[in-house]
Amino acid sequence: MNFSEFNFESSLQEGLDAMGFEKPTPVQEQAIPVILEGKDIIACAQTGTGKTAAFILPVLNKIAQSGGGKLDTLVLAPTRELAIQIDQQIQGFAYFVGISSIPIYGGGDGVIWEQQKRALEQGAEIVVATPGRLIALLAGGKIKLDTLKHLILDEADRMLDMGFSDDLLTIVNYLPKDRQTILFSATMPPKIRTFSKKLLNNNPEEISL
Ligand code: AMP
Repeated sequence: MNFSEFNFESSLQEGLDAMGFEKPTPVQEQAIPVILEGKDIIACAQTGTGKTAAFILPVLNKIAQSGGGKLDTLVLAPTRELAIQIDQQIQGFAYFVGISSIPIYGGGDGVIWEQQKRALEQGAEIVVATPGRLIALLAGGKIKLDTLKHLILDEADRMLDMGFSDDLLTIVNYLPKDRQTILFSATMPPKIRTFSKKLLNNNPEEISL
């Protein structure tokens, strides 16, 4: 199949053309229609399969349709490196759609902390965050998540292995209950399933390649 079959907004399709994306990868072919429909989803996919675009593209399309202007999507990732990588991929497409994204991660120096806080004051439709730094911002009232429509967890297995389980549950308490939750994980051990029951609605769609 071709990307044109998803009937994305023309600005997003232009972005795909400019980035040289012609055909969806298998995980994109399976996940994109489910996310466009608004269903919660658990997807098992490794790095290198095109998993990032699988969750970014349908969400960007929905934000483009709604007109943007408010914080819409939170992506949580285990490490600063992954958060930066996801943010860069979002920005590549977001430029075409007129949407902005902010990376929020720990470490670094006070300058990065100040830059992240300033960027948040200016606003964005998407925030890509590591859990610890996001909690610090939430506790300080520097970020409000009450307009959120999409929560994405990337590399959920790694986040649990790194001990972020309580942080993730704390973050979810700040989010509207009426949202779409998208969970990607490289592996699917029983603890991911148990954990996903606390975050996703009762009937998530599952895809695995
Ligand atoms: P990921 O698995 O998300 O880490 O993606 C791996 C790489 O594949 C990234 O550099 C993407 O830009 C690229 N990529 C993802 N999907 C496609 C696609 N459908 N066509 C061409 N390149 C892609």
